[in-house]
Amino acid sequence: MTVNPQAPPTFTGNKALQIEEALSFEIGGFDRTGVDFPPAEDRPNRLGGLGRDSDIGLPGLSEPETMRHFVRLSQKNYAIDMGPFPLGSCTMKHNPRLNEKIARLPGFADLHPLAPQACAQGALELIDTLAFWLKELTGMPAVAMSPKAGAHGELCGMMAIKAAIDARGEGDKRTRVLAPESAHGTNPATAVQCGFTVEEIPGDATGRVDLAALKEKLGDDVAAIMVTNPNTCGLFERDIRAIADAVHEAGGYFYCDGANFNAIAGKVKPGDLGVDAMHINLHKTFSTPHGGGGPGAGPTVLAQALAPYAPAPYVVRQDGEYHLVETPSAESFGRLTAFHGQMGMFTRALSYMMSHGVDGIRQVAEDAVLNANYVLARLKGEMTPAFEGYCMHEALFDDRFLKDTGVETIDFAKAMIDEGYHPMTMYFPLVVHGAMLIEPTESESKRELDLFCDALLSLAKRAKAGAAEAFKAAPVYSPRRRLDETAAARKPVLRWTPAKAAE
Ligand SMILES: *Cc1c(COP(=O)(O)O)cnc(C)c1O
Repeated sequence: MTVNPQAPPTFTGNKALQIEEALSFEIGGFDRTGVDFPPAEDRPNRLGGLGRDSDIGLPGLSEPETMRHFVRLSQKNYAIDMGPFPLGSCTMKHNPRLNEKIARLPGFADLHPLAPQACAQGALELIDTLAFWLKELTGMPAVAMSPKAGAHGELCGMMAIKAAIDARGEGDKRTRVLAPESAHGTNPATAVQCGFTVEEIPGDATGRVDLAALKEKLGDDVAAIMVTNPNTCGLFERDIRAIADAVHEAGGYFYCDGANFNAIAGKVKPGDLGVDAMHINLHKTFSTPHGGGGPGAGPTVLAQALAPYAPAPYVVRQDGEYHLVETPSAESFGRLTAFHGQMGMFTRALSYMMSHGVDGIRQVAEDAVLNANYVLARLKGEMTPAFEGYCMHEALFDDRFLKDTGVETIDFAKAMIDEGYHPMTMYFPLVVHGAMLIEPTESESKRELDLFCDALLSLAKRAKAGAAEAFKAAPVYSPRRRLDETAAARKPVLRWTPAKAAE
């Protein structure tokens, strides 16, 4: 296909059925849209001088205009229901419609969080059943269900570790947390939030934790290590048992970032690897819809040593009835959320688990790994894998194949948008130059994977053939082209000002 960025502008600004959409405040206005109420009859004013003396400033759209506004905006979003979403580390898998059907059952969907427990037995049973399977799949004795995202689960786990260390009377002494240099940003952020200082563990040439370097950093001032497995380079940490043993010998705890559980669920129990705490992103591994900031759910499984410090509330079963225990125990670090957690995500995750069964979950992990290795094998002729050998559930490339082409990772990603793909994760993990992290998940068919790989191979060949200028101009077919992302991040314009006032 030939690219024609000089396509003539249209009168409306629309590009065929891709409709240009202004802010509702710009569209609306009581003189142009919406409905008018007749002026109120003369009545004595009882507001005592507090009545509004200027316009309220709402958009005032009619009902169809409101519908169109939001539907058009939604069409500018890319979604897993539109095409593959190869964002590495995010596990953007298909969200089965069965989950949605279950989550919409009125008994779950319409239940008020303050409903009497006697009226919410089914919901409490669901939380308890999901907790059971999370413990079963991870081989861990306890789970805190209330964290509302992976990062929140990390906070839960690290607060439990902090409480355990304080209970040992070592709170002042154990102040360091170790994390690999490839760690997700939330790991060091969480540790700092809990009052620890963070130190990086270097990686080795194979993209894994350097065990010898880790051992050198261990000491009686280390509270915990935070390690992701499979790690953010998409590789299984082969020394994971030795890492756990070394940390335990030094008196520290092993926090495992479980965001990549999709690669090993049903195959390996983190409890067998010596993990003390691990969050599970239900929205990644167990297919609850996510993106754009939520909703998520990040239950945190805990080893026996940390279980007493788990937060309230939690569900217990007694004499055939379920109870929500709201009062934290004396040892618990307290309460993490107002209510019991993300009920809508719980129903979806359990529906996903039940419809797959144990053998199905295991196959999910195997297929996710197979798909990633298929992508790796198909792309490695034109693109450069960051590390040698097979990968787990995501394939990591660096930008060596773009050397001397004038094209950078960001240009490559923008060109993918023109081809109809959401870009992969870029520039993460930081240990790899110009990183491109691709996670196809198990839900893509061979046909989808082939089309995706063919598109990327074509882009790589074009980049090498000297098409830098076209890459720098991409995307040309999207509603917006390249934005000044630095300015958007550093000087965000968060408030709309009417054109007239702005003059
Ligand atoms: C997604 C992710 C997190 C954070 O999870 P959220 O649910 O986004 O808060 C942490 N670590 C890794 C490796 C992740 O991929």
